[in-house]
Amino acid sequence: MLIVQKFGGTSVGDLQRIQNVADRVVRTKKAGNDVVVVVSAMSGETNKLVAYAEHFSKMPVKSEMDMLLSSGERVTASLLAIALNAMGYDAVSMTGRKAGIVTDSIHTKARIEEIDPTVMNKALKEGKIIVVAGFQGVSMEGNVTTLGRGGSDLSAVAIAGAIKADLCEIYTDVSGIFTTDPRIESKAKKLNRISYDEMLELASLGAKVLQNRSVELAKKLNVNLVTRTSFTDEEGTLITKEENIMEKPLVSGIALDKNQARISLMGVKDRPGIASDIFNKLAKSEVNIDMIIQNIGHDGSANIDFTVAVGDLHDAKNVVEGFVKTGDIKEASYDENICKVSIVGVGMKSHTGVAAKAFSTMASENININMISTSEIKVSMVIHEKYAELAVRSLHNAYELDK
Ligand code: ADP
Ligand code: ASP
Ligand code: MG
Repeated sequence: MLIVQKFGGTSVGDLQRIQNVADRVVRTKKAGNDVVVVVSAMSGETNKLVAYAEHFSKMPVKSEMDMLLSSGERVTASLLAIALNAMGYDAVSMTGRKAGIVTDSIHTKARIEEIDPTVMNKALKEGKIIVVAGFQGVSMEGNVTTLGRGGSDLSAVAIAGAIKADLCEIYTDVSGIFTTDPRIESKAKKLNRISYDEMLELASLGAKVLQNRSVELAKKLNVNLVTRTSFTDEEGTLITKEENIMEKPLVSGIALDKNQARISLMGVKDRPGIASDIFNKLAKSEVNIDMIIQNIGHDGSANIDFTVAVGDLHDAKNVVEGFVKTGDIKEASYDENICKVSIVGVGMKSHTGVAAKAFSTMASENININMISTSEIKVSMVIHEKYAELAVRSLHNAYELDK
C-alpha cells in the first residue's frame, strides 16, 4: 500500500517522540508499504514564533509571518529524516515547495491550487521514505505560504490525493473522533466511523482535531481518512461516505468554538446595497463571516450582527470603522467574550424536535442564547463564553451521547 502518515504537534513534541514516530514509520515501511510522512511543528513551536513576531508588531506583514511560521515544520521534517537515516533507512525531507505544493498568494491562509507530485513520485520509486514539512506551500510568485492554523492536516490529505495514496492516517494525541472534545467531557465516546459531512461540520464548528479544509478535500477526492493516536496501536476513526455508516444517530457530536467574536453594527443606513457593500469589503479583506442577523431599528435604520473568527477581528474592524467614518454605520461594537456551541448529526435531516431540545437544554441551565443558525445537519448557538463547557456537557448529556 501507499500510505500517507501525518503526525501532529504533540506526536513530535520532543526528541523521544520524534524517535517513536521514526519507529512507527519504519514498522509501516517494513510491512511492505511505501510511506510519505507529513509533520507539524513540535507542539507550542508555532505559537512561540507568533509571539516572537508580536513582540515587534501587532500586525506583522503576512508574507513575513509565512516565512517565519513555515520554519517550525521544516525543523521537524529534517529531524525525522535524520532519525530515519540513523536507523539505516533512506529518507529525504521536503519543503512544501519541493513536494510540489502550489498555492494562491493569500498569505497565512493560502489555498492549494495544485500539487505536482513528480519529485515525490521519483523519490518513492527509488524506495525512499519522504518526509514533508506540513502547513506550507509556494505561491505562483515563488513566495512561501502557509495554509492556516492546523494546516498540516490539509497538506496530508492533498498529498494523499495527488499521489493516489490508499490511505491517509492522521496521528494525533487522542485516539480518534469523539462525540465531543474528550478534554471537555470525559464521558465522550470514540466513534468508529463518521461521515465526511458530519466531520466537516464538526471541524468547521470548532473541533480542531481535523482542519476543516482537509475534510472538505478528503470528501472531494474520496481519500480514505483515519484519525488515530500516535501513542498506542488502538484503532482510530474512519471518516467515510455516509452510505458506509450503518447507524445514524440523531446527533453524532457536539463542537465548541471559543475563537469567535461578535460584531454589532447599529444604525446601518437603510438603503439598497448597503449590506452588499459592507460584506463585499469584508470578503475582499479575506474575513470569513459566519452567522448574520439583521433587525430593523425604530428609525428605519437596520442593526446587523455577525460573527467572525477572532483572528479576523482586526481586519474586520478596519473595514467596519471605514463605514462608521462615512456615516453609513452609526456605531459598531465588538465582543470577544462569546463562543459557539453546535450539535451535528445527519440523523437530524429526518427528525423534528432536535433543535428544540438544544434550546430547552440551554434554558434549563439558565444560559441565554444570543444567536442561532441551523442547517440540515447542525444547530449552532452563540452564548457567553463563561458557559462554554457547561453547555457542551449539558448537551452531551441531553442527547445521551455517553450511552
Ligand atoms: P495535532 O497537534 O495532532 O494536529 P490538535 O490539537 O490539532 O492535534 O487536535 C487534537 C485535539 O482536538 C484533541 O487533543 C482534542 O482536545 C481536540 N478535539 C476537539 N474536538 C474533538 C473531538 N470531537 N474528538 C477528538 N478530539 C477533539
Ligand atoms: N504548526 C501549525 C499550527 O500549529 C500547523 C499544524 O500543526 O497543522 O497551526
Ligand atoms: Mg491539528
